[in-house]
Amino acid sequence: MGIDLGTTNTCVATYVDERPVVIPNAEGTQTMPSVVAYTEKGTVLVGASARRQAVMNPTRTVHSVKRLMGQRPDAEIVARLQPLLGYEVGADERGQLVIRAGARDRSPIEVSAAILQAAKAAADEYFGEPCEAAVITCPAWFDESQRQATMDAARVAGIEVLRIMNEPPAAALAYGTSPKRTGTLVVYDWGGGTFDCSVLECSDGVLKVKATRGDAFLGGDDVDEKVMGLLIDHFYRMHGVEVQGDPTALQRLREASEGAKIELSSSHEAEIILPFLCTDSTGPKHFEMTLNRQRFEQIVAPFVKRTLECCQKALQDAGIGPANVDDVLLVGGSTKMPYVQQAIAELFGKPARKGVNPDEAVALGAAIHAAALAGEADDVLLLDVLPLSVGLAEGDRFAAMLHRGSTIPTFRTDTFTTSRDYQSSVLIKVYQGEHSSVKENRLIGSFRLENLPPKRAGDMKIDVTFSVDASGLLQVEAREAATGIKRAVQVRDAMRLSEGEIQTLSRRLAEPA
Ligand code: ADP
Ligand code: MG
Repeated sequence: MGIDLGTTNTCVATYVDERPVVIPNAEGTQTMPSVVAYTEKGTVLVGASARRQAVMNPTRTVHSVKRLMGQRPDAEIVARLQPLLGYEVGADERGQLVIRAGARDRSPIEVSAAILQAAKAAADEYFGEPCEAAVITCPAWFDESQRQATMDAARVAGIEVLRIMNEPPAAALAYGTSPKRTGTLVVYDWGGGTFDCSVLECSDGVLKVKATRGDAFLGGDDVDEKVMGLLIDHFYRMHGVEVQGDPTALQRLREASEGAKIELSSSHEAEIILPFLCTDSTGPKHFEMTLNRQRFEQIVAPFVKRTLECCQKALQDAGIGPANVDDVLLVGGSTKMPYVQQAIAELFGKPARKGVNPDEAVALGAAIHAAALAGEADDVLLLDVLPLSVGLAEGDRFAAMLHRGSTIPTFRTDTFTTSRDYQSSVLIKVYQGEHSSVKENRLIGSFRLENLPPKRAGDMKIDVTFSVDASGLLQVEAREAATGIKRAVQVRDAMRLSEGEIQTLSRRLAEPA
């Protein structure tokens, strides 16, 4: 399987007869909403059924869980997200982030596992036998803990992860980037919650990510929110009634806003009719409005402008201009808006490539890569880059060992010494981030090298090696040169869930909500 585990929608694909194909889910659609609901009655709903009942059950309906993966409860992004979520997020006794949407607290890993389990079930059904292994995609900027959380969610769902793959190269594979092609590609990915732009270079069968920029708070949902503002004002003018305090009316308006937006991608006018939106002492109030494309595009324009600014920055990082780009590939549901396609054509001086459904591109590419890893499809060498620098603490300073943007897989060894005489052990702390002060970066793992021979400070030689594999996961090894005393830590081993924890969570997945 190739699985695009999206913030808003999840898509599963496979490779048959030398072609990637999307596997339809239980409800017969190509993608499934990444929504899990825990109902009062104790049932767990995943996908479209969960999304449909969101209006009635907002506090027990979990959407956008991808944005919480690998996050700590006190992270800034969590505080920023909380008002957008509708369900409660907190911390458990170990200080780990939990979602409070059912009878008990759940980690984001557990919620994602429920989505992945539904994806796997669709594949099992398609093949008529259990489908065990997958390439799962994630944003290019996902850090070590976000990637690790994705891996763990797959393990809980009973899926063997062949590779965690970045979304932009996956999309490039789906658009038919064959080993023979040469050129510069831009992947423009605008989904429900986030925007990403990546510049890739393809030559001699090697596909390399040159630069990635993104905005974690710029998605199709923001467009819906603005359209909804227009609807609320319109309703007030029609009836003099404020709907702000009525969650059900607001949710209906939000869904109608998204519906109108989608309709306006193919027609010039959208009729929005919501009977009995609310009732006051004078009786029931109905909502009725026509939104035309011109008015809608005035709303979309500032968002699109921000996406283009993001593209400009990615191009700058890659050291090229828009005219140097050979192909622009569209990914994500929001790129179906004609206004977006026009703006892209203007910036790059040519229209974006057509031919792959932007909802499916990432999953299709992941399926191609999965087939290549299994020896069933031609291999394209994917050279990805490290999303964030990794290194050690030298006092308060951050000493980067591998820099952001380095091509992976990669490694580096440096020699360090002790700071005190006859020190018998050293604590190695591994950080990820771009700040020169270590406190501002994220501690992603630590271990102690013990039983060191008695030596004066400065005489001891400790070789520390950082290596990053093709999934972007880090291993750190420290070795005392004279005695060969060595300790290696797969940073992910330190963070990943133990086999026992995985089994407990897998069992719980089948339990009532
Ligand atoms: P994600 O990567 O976040 O999972 P998707 O790529 O599935 O997201 O995109 C979801 C977003 O695309 C939603 O905001 C949805 O409203 C929007 N969308 C889907 N279809 C259309 C369309 N035809 N026109 C405009 N927006 C669309
Ligand atoms: Mg996506």
